[in-house]
Amino acid sequence: MRIKLSILSAMILALALSPSVYSDCPNCHKNQIPMTGHGAAPDGSGRLKLNVQIDSSFNDSPGTTNSNIWNGVRDARTDWNNATQTGTPTGQATNYYFDEAQSAASSDVDIRIVMGNPGAGNFAQATATNHGGGNVGPPYTITLPPDAKNWGLDKLRAVISHELGHTIGLSHAYKKFQTCGNTIMNNGTPKGAITGSVQPKDVTAANKQYNNRAACTDNFGDGPHMTGGGGGYTEPTPWRYTPTCYYFWDAVDYYYCYDGCRYAFTVYYLTDSFCF
Ligand SMILES: [Zn+2]
Repeated sequence: MRIKLSILSAMILALALSPSVYSDCPNCHKNQIPMTGHGAAPDGSGRLKLNVQIDSSFNDSPGTTNSNIWNGVRDARTDWNNATQTGTPTGQATNYYFDEAQSAASSDVDIRIVMGNPGAGNFAQATATNHGGGNVGPPYTITLPPDAKNWGLDKLRAVISHELGHTIGLSHAYKKFQTCGNTIMNNGTPKGAITGSVQPKDVTAANKQYNNRAACTDNFGDGPHMTGGGGGYTEPTPWRYTPTCYYFWDAVDYYYCYDGCRYAFTVYYLTDSFCF
């Protein structure tokens, strides 16, 4: 019986470690229609131009967008536009180019950044448009809270890049943090830090979704801070991950001294611990 259990355990472990199980890091959305964009990218790359517009709800005064939000959206666009599957400039990029489109007509906006309530526990929320047949698509709305105007630029870029990732078909990777590692689609590290920037694996997953979304496993709306294809749910908390911890101990030896000294016992005490 014990042998049978061991074999079963080994099979489960092999399945868990199988590349076919964890080939998508992050997962992608099968119910999301790839965007056709609005013309060609201005960089001549042949990519589809996506119009990203910051709503007037983020205006400091009429016609003037809050500069912090402006810079955060700019940096998030640049993050995606420069990312490739290999991490080198000559590598395969996504099929999309996120363009600044403040002057675009409302009907031409693919992604609108608005101030609002992103939902309890969410840094931001991405909302899709129902295209029928169980599919969603553009235009998308990314909702940021009023306090986003006060966020640091790194946090703004990371959060907006993450939400842009949802608009081009990417799901979350948080369930698989230990195997996916750093991707813009992790909500954060196990310690709660915001994941920094778009990674080559994010670009690979976006291209997979663009080319063959039927092979994707998730649906838009299944994850936190997304609505439009099944409803959102609350942001998972960092302790949902199983962290790897290191504990540092120090030791003090005690001696019993009477007619000479002999070792008695050792006391260990925790000096530090670090989990990631
Ligand atoms: Zn998300």
